[in-house]
Amino acid sequence: MISPHALELAQTLVRMNTVSHHSNLELIHFIRDHLASLGVASRLTFNADKTKANLFATLGEGKPAGVILSGHTDTVPWDGQEWTTDPLGAVVRDGRLYGRGSADMKAFIGVALSQAGQFLHSDAPFAIHLAFSYEEEIGCFGVKELIADLRDAGVRPLACIVGEPTSMVPAIAHKGVYRYKCCVRGKEAHSSLTPHSVNAIEMAARVVGRVRDMAEGFERDEPRFEGFDVPFSTASVGQFHGGIADNVVPRDAEFRYEFRDLPTANAAQMQAEVVAYARALEPAMHRVAPQAGFRFETICEIPSFLGSKDDEVTRLALRLSGEPQTTLVAFGTEAGLFKNAGIPTVVCGPGSIQQAHQPDEYVSLEQLARCEAFMAGLARSRSLG
Ligand SMILES: [Zn+2]
Repeated sequence: MISPHALELAQTLVRMNTVSHHSNLELIHFIRDHLASLGVASRLTFNADKTKANLFATLGEGKPAGVILSGHTDTVPWDGQEWTTDPLGAVVRDGRLYGRGSADMKAFIGVALSQAGQFLHSDAPFAIHLAFSYEEEIGCFGVKELIADLRDAGVRPLACIVGEPTSMVPAIAHKGVYRYKCCVRGKEAHSSLTPHSVNAIEMAARVVGRVRDMAEGFERDEPRFEGFDVPFSTASVGQFHGGIADNVVPRDAEFRYEFRDLPTANAAQMQAEVVAYARALEPAMHRVAPQAGFRFETICEIPSFLGSKDDEVTRLALRLSGEPQTTLVAFGTEAGLFKNAGIPTVVCGPGSIQQAHQPDEYVSLEQLARCEAFMAGLARSRSLG
């Protein structure tokens, strides 16, 4: 059974609207004040306009190093979704806690917070760090600031547990998510005078074709990474806009695309290939219109994650969850960023990704109880592995 205190904290967090484009400061201040009541200070790092913050706190100050419990405070929106319950209601019904962010991933944060007193007075040889970020859902922007702040402050965590919903099965790999926008500037003309124009849609389409060719190449040639639903890297174009009339050669076109690269692949190289292909088209465009060309914007770059069965933190997560083996997940998380900062990391949290981002999102109380037992076990741990 989940304790009333942990459930109440999870409900309190769900009731706060922290959709990614909103401020998360109400929630961050609530956590800061809760920790302050235990005598624990929080480090906050803000976004540029100070409307959002990450929170980092250490329970067990003075111990040589600590294990991070990492969660993001933002949620996806629910516009247009058919909910039968209030997304901010945090209603408990039929053994489930309903609400936006219940599974992804406020319940994890609530349970972690409910154990703060235990972590504080634990005899474990390591401290517990709480690391709660903003803007994970739109590109892991907050946690990049948080990790940079830790580096600058000389904090060197031992390990990290990212509490994304894995049904409490420790996950040691996921693909990366790299999204870009390509804006194409051509030169308009009456469509009877095409030689004097640069057709932005047609130029964009050539690059789109290249992305498609690359996707087919991954499927054909890439060494398989077994365990993923799609065991090779993928590429796809998600949006395409351009053109104003049938008889006007379009001046502008724009498309957005993504790569989901295997942990063994290299998304930077993929993007470089697209850019190089586009650049090679530009000289011909410039002969008609010097201002024509391609402009690329990065939307988000979330690195893939590859942990290890042999990492102490993975063995710890297996022991605490009681699961016999690790898994892989299909979604992106902050894990690759922690790992790339030199911190051994595992992903393990309550609830299922099946319910995340969906109408009537929920996390079962059974999962919450398992998460609470995991955390209580962590507080009682005598060693990491
Ligand atoms: Zn999430």
